[in-house]
Amino acid sequence: MKTPYRKRRGLWIDLLLVGTIAVLGSIVIYLTVLSDDPIFPNRDELAVEATPSNISEEASIFPGVRIVTDISNDEKMPFAIQYPLTKYEPFNDSILTYIKEAKDYYIGMMRLQQNVNDLTGELNISLETYEYDHYYSFVLTNKTILNNDEQQTTVTTFLIDHETGELFDIRTLLNEDLTSLETFATHIQSEIAKNPAYKDHVLQDELALATQPKWRLFKRFALKKDSLVVYFNEGEIATTEAGLPTVEMSLSFINPLLASAFQIEMEAEETIVPKQHENSTKKRIALTFDDGPHPEVTKQILALLNKYDAKATFFMLGSRVQYYPGLVREVRDAGHEIGNHTWTHPVLTKMSAAAVQKEFESTEQALLDAIGQNSTIFRPPYGAINDSVRALIPRTSVNWTIDTLDWKHRDSKQLLPMVKKSMHNNAIVLMHDIHQSTADGLEPVLKYLQSEGYEFVTVSEMLQYH
Ligand code: ZN
Repeated sequence: MKTPYRKRRGLWIDLLLVGTIAVLGSIVIYLTVLSDDPIFPNRDELAVEATPSNISEEASIFPGVRIVTDISNDEKMPFAIQYPLTKYEPFNDSILTYIKEAKDYYIGMMRLQQNVNDLTGELNISLETYEYDHYYSFVLTNKTILNNDEQQTTVTTFLIDHETGELFDIRTLLNEDLTSLETFATHIQSEIAKNPAYKDHVLQDELALATQPKWRLFKRFALKKDSLVVYFNEGEIATTEAGLPTVEMSLSFINPLLASAFQIEMEAEETIVPKQHENSTKKRIALTFDDGPHPEVTKQILALLNKYDAKATFFMLGSRVQYYPGLVREVRDAGHEIGNHTWTHPVLTKMSAAAVQKEFESTEQALLDAIGQNSTIFRPPYGAINDSVRALIPRTSVNWTIDTLDWKHRDSKQLLPMVKKSMHNNAIVLMHDIHQSTADGLEPVLKYLQSEGYEFVTVSEMLQYH
């Protein structure tokens, strides 16, 4: 039988209570210091009574990280707390502030209740540490029990570049790019929706609110070796039966959204360079847009291509095609070529044959559902391909000859210089229709190429000349 979701007491009431306790406490201490009146216990006695705790600190397996353990075996209000410290003061300050607030809240609430009743509680803050490159992610899980049926579990994360001591957050991770945040938020919604563990427990309204594309909503995440994990509190987006909901996404899947400092390193793969057609005097160029479609950026790019009567090729991700079938139809109806760019954007050369085929086939199915036709061409994510992958994909696989690095600089003003720098006839230009900066910088590129006499063709058209 399912327990119905029970709404907790509002956080502000708790804050108000704790605030009141803090104010009263200060008055007590103030009066004690001022009057020396024996009816008030002195400050030391208060502290010792409240928290006879045992603090120890030791080195950890993570270089530069010390772990502090703070345990109290107090009968009525025991606690066990673990947290990390580094050599960086700003980081330590933020951790210590958090720990102090959590402890004050617990002890304050317990004191209030003990006046009324003989209840016991428990505070447990546990620590998990993850390392990715030179970044540490510390995940603190706080379980507070104020009496037998009033408990709450929350997650707080602390993220630091352990080479520089700088803290980072979701803004740093996504390079302050609102378009990337929108995509990120959509990924999280769909991952929650399709996870069978949460299926019957999701609170739809709460989920929609908690995953709006707002920076402040994505404070809790951790970077692991190959993935990024986003955390939610117990009861926040699903009933408490779902436990602490998390979303884990592979770094290669979200790589296109990440600031360059966080992107996974890819070996540069050789790109195909179409040979000049010997008898052709015609100048041609194939513009390509990867990782979309995107509801705003792709639309803007379509409008610009239309204005310059340019045909291009869109290498789409099946995971996005499924959400925007109407947009895929618009791309097709405008005469552009549609290529398969896999479902989850993985490094295919590291996957099993079955997984590679699934990436390709599921995307083909999404395209069939959207436009009633298959892709005509394929591009492997990161350009990573080898003979075994090629043998599994029943399409011509095409990389690029000019990388505009639009995914890295995210600067509309750099798009044209990047194209000009490597310009050559029969070029295949790599861009991404998920970055606003790419749409913003495209018109000067089209204008320049047109004035230079280039014809804008699709990748398949370009290949026909060879
Ligand atoms: Zn891509």
